[in-house]
Amino acid sequence: MDHFLYRDGQLMAEDVPLAQIAAEVGTPVYVYSAATLLRHFRLFDEALAGMDHLVCFAMKSLSNQAVLKLLGDAGAGMDVVSAGEYMRARAAGVPGDRIVFSGVGKTREEMRIALTGGIRQFNVESEPEMEALSEVASALGVVAPITVRVNPDVDAKTHAKIATGKSENKFGIPISRAREVYAHAARLPGIKAIGIDVHIGSQLTELDPFEAAYRKVADLTEALRADGHEITRLDLGGGLGIPYARDNQAPPLPLDYGDVIRKTVGHLGCEIEIEPGRLIAGNAGILLTQVIYVKSGEDRDFLIVDAAMNDLIRPAMYEAHHDIVPVVEPAPGFEPHAYDIVGPVCETGDTFARGRSMPRLAQGDLVAFRSSGAYGAVMASEYNSRPLVPEVLVSGDQFAVIRPRPTYEEMISRDTVPEWV
Ligand SMILES: *Cc1c(COP(=O)(O)O)cnc(C)c1O
Repeated sequence: MDHFLYRDGQLMAEDVPLAQIAAEVGTPVYVYSAATLLRHFRLFDEALAGMDHLVCFAMKSLSNQAVLKLLGDAGAGMDVVSAGEYMRARAAGVPGDRIVFSGVGKTREEMRIALTGGIRQFNVESEPEMEALSEVASALGVVAPITVRVNPDVDAKTHAKIATGKSENKFGIPISRAREVYAHAARLPGIKAIGIDVHIGSQLTELDPFEAAYRKVADLTEALRADGHEITRLDLGGGLGIPYARDNQAPPLPLDYGDVIRKTVGHLGCEIEIEPGRLIAGNAGILLTQVIYVKSGEDRDFLIVDAAMNDLIRPAMYEAHHDIVPVVEPAPGFEPHAYDIVGPVCETGDTFARGRSMPRLAQGDLVAFRSSGAYGAVMASEYNSRPLVPEVLVSGDQFAVIRPRPTYEEMISRDTVPEWV
């Protein structure tokens, strides 16, 4: 459930008509619902009730400061994948001891920044990284808490670009080598292995792959303990999928996911961390856009909207489906019409949907791309010199621009021209 519903024939974001936001902020614009963000965070928090746990929001999915503060104040930790994300989380008031640092390519500079600022743990993904971290921490006179990310070689049954838990993927160390790697970690003075990390992919729509991975983690926990390692923390990653299409079967709920965790690793007495991104942010945001032209082609009609692939790249990059709905509620029993829905960018890849069944629309009409809160604004660019898409946060009947649209001057003035040109 989310808070983008029709009321009196108008699509609302909580208690604010989207048409009002379009009039005041312009389009395209991302609109997020605070109530939905908080609700999704709490669903995970409640799903792990009874276990010592921390829900770390995977902020690469949506990293606006206002959103981080909202979730951080509600008790969320953050999963960061760069020093930039670490700094953003800290700037939003999230304490270091609630931040976990993931990613295959952390630089020494990034390690230094996190160690100096305070960090809950590093999720280390290779032995060279382990050695680098040990050196950086030793130089600072500290011991860095780590988990080692293991690759359990399970098929997450998701899009190839976002599957991360198969042996051919670049992530983690093969679980078959884990005992050697933990023995290596134990010999390094600047790190202390306190747990195990796993993340098998994103947009998972079944629980079986999680269960398979977590069983392997449970077995590994026992093996490592037998080897003398103190394993007290399990980071189980993110990846739970969301329903992108209304008429599709809904993916599992956080509560059922929590049961899988309880069933597979609950008996180990470990502190549990999870790193959901998409499920917290995805359905908490829409991309609001306006029809520029309706163009009749030879065998189809094109709806040319003012949002483009630079604003929302998921359809171009992952063949992703987004439900697209008019802001004015269609009359019951309306005659549907098929449109190709496209943006203004000069690439055929800038196509959001083909042959999409919609009510008849006209120039100036507003439409919303649903489920755009995660991996939407964060992946936006200024390709084609289209100013970066702005973001709005709604709570009840209030809304605020949480990232303004740059002016053309601001966009251009970030470049500098050397005097010798
Ligand atoms: C991307 C990522 C996540 C979040 O995945 P979602 O599918 O958005 O829940 C969590 N952990 C790691 C390490 C990631 O790379």
